[in-house]
Order: sequence, then C-alpha cells, then structure tokens
Amino acid sequence: MLIRHAAVPTAPAADTWIHSRVLVLNASYEALDEITADRAVTLLLSGAAETVIERLPHFPIRSQRLALTLPETIRLLRYVYLGHVAPVEADSRATPAGVLRRDKHRCGYCASWAATVDHIRPRSRGGPNTWGNLVACCAVCNTAKADRTPEEAGMRLLWEPKAPDPLARTQRRIWKEYAP
Ligand SMILES: [Zn+2]
Repeated sequence: MLIRHAAVPTAPAADTWIHSRVLVLNASYEALDEITADRAVTLLLSGAAETVIERLPHFPIRSQRLALTLPETIRLLRYVYLGHVAPVEADSRATPAGVLRRDKHRCGYCASWAATVDHIRPRSRGGPNTWGNLVACCAVCNTAKADRTPEEAGMRLLWEPKAPDPLARTQRRIWKEYAP
C-alpha cells in the first residue's frame, strides 16, 4: 500500500469517515446524488463504481479484499436510466409519511423531532393534503396550534414547505438497488 504524505485539511476521524458525503455520478458523468461514504465504499467494493476524485488528504480504508482511499466523487460503471421524472408541485397531493421524510422529522415550527404533520391551513377550513399545506410538526406545537392558522396561533414556520425534488424518489430507488 502506498504511504502518502499527510497534508491539510485534516482527515476525518476513524469513526466518522462513514458520515462524509460522496458525490455520485452516473456513467455519463452527470451528477446523480450525494450519499454517505459507507455506501460509496460498498459501491466501490462491489465493482459497481469507480473513484473519480479521491478525498484529500488521503484517508485509507481497508477491507478484507482490498485497500482503497476515501473518495470525494465516484462514478457508476453502469448507466442508470432515470426515465421520466414527473414534476411535483406544491399543490400536488402529499402523504404524511412523505412529508415527514421531506422534513427529516423536524418540526416546522420549533425544529425538534416530529412524528406527526400539521395542516398549515386547518383541515376544518378546507386546508388540503398537499406538499405546500403540510409540514412536519411535533406534538407540542400541534397541540398549541390546534385548529388555527400559524398567524392566529402566533406561530411562525421556520421554512416554506415545498414539493420535494422530483428526483428524490428515483435516487432512493437507485440506492436501494446498488447499496442497500
Ligand atoms: Zn414543534
């Protein structure tokens, strides 16, 4: 194995490298997604991808079969056909599970962990089940807001709920298939 000269910036700690982000390119070199380094290494070890750019300073990762260095960018060797990606709009229908995934379970009013969703315009007043009208909401904020609009409840949204990136579903499918 090559011994390389360490240089600034610092390498990730041994137990945190798996959390660093790696850019994944399609075989055609188009950017597909960012994934965690442990998934990227799985792709490299399975022969599904190659390293395009190594992360600096070099950070060695050893497996039983081979040694490699932590990548910054990898490229899939087989072209992934993305197909038609249907547009998603703020007024498209959303499900609570989809909204929680979009908001990463962070409450839209206080940013703490949320397991439920809030209708920004209350359901009782015709608030629809759409990406633009649903936001992840913790139990405390949900109870405090009750059947009111944020203005009436004196609460402020931390971000404007939007439709998710239409690529997101395709990206999840790809990583389920390639690096489960
Ligand atoms: Zn909250």
